[in-house]
Amino acid sequence: MARYRDSLCRLCRREGEKLFLKGDRCHTDKCAFERRKYIPGQHGTRRIKVSDYGIQLREKQKVKRIYGMLERQFRKYFEEAQKRKGVTGEQLLQFLELRLDNIVYRLGFASSRQQARQLVNHGHVLVNGRTVNIPSFRVKEGDVVEIKEKSRKIPLIQESLSKVEHRGLPQWLQLDAEAFRGKLLNVPSREEIPLAVKENLIVELYSK
Ligand code: SF4
Repeated sequence: MARYRDSLCRLCRREGEKLFLKGDRCHTDKCAFERRKYIPGQHGTRRIKVSDYGIQLREKQKVKRIYGMLERQFRKYFEEAQKRKGVTGEQLLQFLELRLDNIVYRLGFASSRQQARQLVNHGHVLVNGRTVNIPSFRVKEGDVVEIKEKSRKIPLIQESLSKVEHRGLPQWLQLDAEAFRGKLLNVPSREEIPLAVKENLIVELYSK
């Protein structure tokens, strides 16, 4: 599948805020956004007036980038959310949160979603005892997600798990860090999703 291969820090600078795409590095003074808080490119330091469309577009791009999505895949999630009963914006975020790579990240097995995606791709993750190497796999209520026994010695997993308390675990997930195992207790409501975005702007953008 196609994916974004350019600098991740550039995405934060483009969105004008930290999107925490690089794990631990984002919390150090090496963070590129802390050093250069302006849009990349020749005219990055210029002040520009942003239209309503521009504001909606930026919000969509921000969410897409946080979860590491490309447009086509993101749009598919939106269309699926639109078909479901309930609030479309909330459904969209729920679909994104229930992706296996996101759950691996939220459980603290990886320090970024990109790292989590790699762990899944490389077959280090089990769901209900079976290897699942598809990052977009949708985790269901009650599913158990764990790291394969022979992969538990991987330093980045151990290091990331050691920081999980500091990062905080959402209340809709349960973690047994010693067993490298977690469980999805319930599908999170909007209030339970720790993400400062205005998803209604995305709905407005796509509904035009
Ligand atoms: Fe964004 Fe992290 Fe890069 Fe900082 S270090 S610019 S938060 S990806």
